Amino acid sequence: MPTADHLLVVAGERVPAVEGGTTTVLAPATGEPLATVARAGAPDVERAVATAHAAFADGRGAWPATSATVRGRVLGRVADLLRERASDLARLEAENAGHPIGDAEWEVEAAARTFEFYAGAPNKHHGSTIPVMDPGLAITLREPVGPCALIVPWNFPLLIASWKVAPALACGNPIILKPASLTPLTALALGDVLVDAGVPPEAVHVLAGPGSQVGDLLVGDPRIAKVGFTGETATGAHILRTSSENITRVSLELGGKSAAVVFADADLQRAAASIPMAVFGNAGQDCCARSRILVERSAYDDFVTAFAAATAEITVGEPLDRDTQMGPMVSEGQRRTSLDYLAIGVEEGARLVRGGEVPDRPGFFLSPAVVADVDNSMRIAREEIFGPVASVIPFDDEDDAIRIANDSPYGLSGSLWTGSATRAIRVARRLRAGTLSVNSNSSVRVETPFGGMKRSGLGRELGLAALDHYSEQRTVFFAED
Ligand code: NAD
Repeated sequence: MPTADHLLVVAGERVPAVEGGTTTVLAPATGEPLATVARAGAPDVERAVATAHAAFADGRGAWPATSATVRGRVLGRVADLLRERASDLARLEAENAGHPIGDAEWEVEAAARTFEFYAGAPNKHHGSTIPVMDPGLAITLREPVGPCALIVPWNFPLLIASWKVAPALACGNPIILKPASLTPLTALALGDVLVDAGVPPEAVHVLAGPGSQVGDLLVGDPRIAKVGFTGETATGAHILRTSSENITRVSLELGGKSAAVVFADADLQRAAASIPMAVFGNAGQDCCARSRILVERSAYDDFVTAFAAATAEITVGEPLDRDTQMGPMVSEGQRRTSLDYLAIGVEEGARLVRGGEVPDRPGFFLSPAVVADVDNSMRIAREEIFGPVASVIPFDDEDDAIRIANDSPYGLSGSLWTGSATRAIRVARRLRAGTLSVNSNSSVRVETPFGGMKRSGLGRELGLAALDHYSEQRTVFFAED
């Protein structure tokens, strides 16, 4: 078995897997091996969980007992160290996940900002005094919950890890981070950053390994107090079932099939120029991708032409090339899925306007595809493709737009484009999506809650809302006499 050049993080230390397992991760831009990574198995999970459990010690361990102000300072140092190591981390992400280097740099900065935001939280997130009828004093306490298993996908490996690790640590919990098998490198590097910043080593564990084994063991372990998961809806449903045995707290950030709703009264040129990157950014592998673009019929043909022209301008290329706007997909399997959906769409009667070509080069590249005349009942409009495929769907009027946008099993994100403020208010109120933006493609800001409705998830991440997942609220009543 080859020796790993990236080791696990257990009790804050870099260690090989107990049974010596390794995984070879590929560079999506070449399809060639990039690194050999230690692959955790059951003994590594046991060591990490037992250590995290002892580190919590019913809230008396070093990290949960650290004062809130000092915890905040440590998280601030995490942000500083992420910035100091930004160029190495961004390069690692670009090579391992295939992200354009400029995007990867932005993601490292966004992860640093996430830690910065939660650095300010620990001494401001506290209990309260509540007036009660009985003579006495009722107070609430905010306490950490215990060891948290944080399971993340491959599409934004470091950034999504930061959304879970930062609030979990802010509340005083030991963490066990489980990155996706395809992209473990920056999560492992984050483990080093946490320890170097001053989180006690016994509270820091990063286990690279298969979800079906490592993830399942973590979720089913009664010593895990909370599971924070981001990934596919089917995996989320499985996690919900497994965690039900021990009534473990779970929050789920799952799939999406988000709509950009474009009314004829919008600034159509601006919309057509900017929406392509809301679908094709990260090669379409974005849970918030506006993969359904709903356009009012009177503007439909012109919009499709302008949208396809703007899409043709996207520079697809090597992740480390600064001109690149869209890199390769993460794996051959992911590219195959997109190609299969394109064939299904055409078979169902949709029109491929441009793209969907596999270029003659190594790596998992696919040109961004625009598919028009899509009906919302078609599979390409209903199922999450998670690739560079945009379905453009016409609608007749406001009610029709809302009906089509909401006719989806998902409800994660979305946009509406209109020149009318009153319409924006009306439509925003009726669209069933956790996060919406008006005349913009933005989805995620660290300060605001983020999460899905329907099959897109359970609970909210980011903002102060995330702290509720990672803390327990207890009530104590003091009798007056
Ligand atoms: P995935 O569900 O296959 O894997 C996600 C993580 O779960 C990985 O670390 C994986 O190893 C682990 N896992 C797999 N099986 C498991 C099991 N049985 N028990 C515990 N853990 C297990 O998802 P993916 O393919 O890595 O990511 C793509 C999906 O993530 C898409 O559906 C996308 O929409 C979703 N996503 C959602 C958000 C959001 O915030 N809503 C953000 C990013 C990605």
